Amino acid sequence: MLKTKRVLNFEQIKEELKNFREDHLKAGIGMILRRGEAYYDPIINSIRFRKLLNIPLPKRLYERTDLEKKVLGLINSTKTNLTLTCNKKSEILVESFSETQMRIRVRNKRAERLRRYGYRVEQEYRMRTKRKKTSITFDQDGQIIKLKCGCREFNEGPRNISAPCSDILALYIISINFMNLPFEIGKKYNYAQLEAMAAGD
Ligand SMILES: [Zn+2]
Repeated sequence: MLKTKRVLNFEQIKEELKNFREDHLKAGIGMILRRGEAYYDPIINSIRFRKLLNIPLPKRLYERTDLEKKVLGLINSTKTNLTLTCNKKSEILVESFSETQMRIRVRNKRAERLRRYGYRVEQEYRMRTKRKKTSITFDQDGQIIKLKCGCREFNEGPRNISAPCSDILALYIISINFMNLPFEIGKKYNYAQLEAMAAGD
């Protein structure tokens, strides 16, 4: 909606988003204002959404991209494996890992020799768990200062924020909500603890 409508007052926003509770709408608008994506125009008592482009956006830009879908698919597993620590310099390190099963060939010298002589010997495989770690370090202003991920997508690129992988994006989306919490230095927090803190428990 915010991409297509430019100026709306609160009544119109309520009309557009009928399914949402009024306090949720107000909180949402507040967030958009804080992010600078819109500003309040007191003359017409309305919210003006900033124009990012002068031309109308093509429809396909509103659709979910494959990357977005991939990131959304990673959100839950990333939450499960997330840990956050804050160091003495007030830098916040968030980490998460994922495990994938890999099939690897078992080397069997005898079988290999037999195969060389033309015998048909089935190749043996075993499963190995491959663990991949993803981490982001934020400075005390919530700016990213370091990124790491064990996946190929990230390591084949420039390894910086200009080309984040889906693991980093998922971790970023989750952890950015917790950046303003008061952390104890050196303590390790999991997702449930962070969520409780954010809810004010
Ligand atoms: Zn990755």
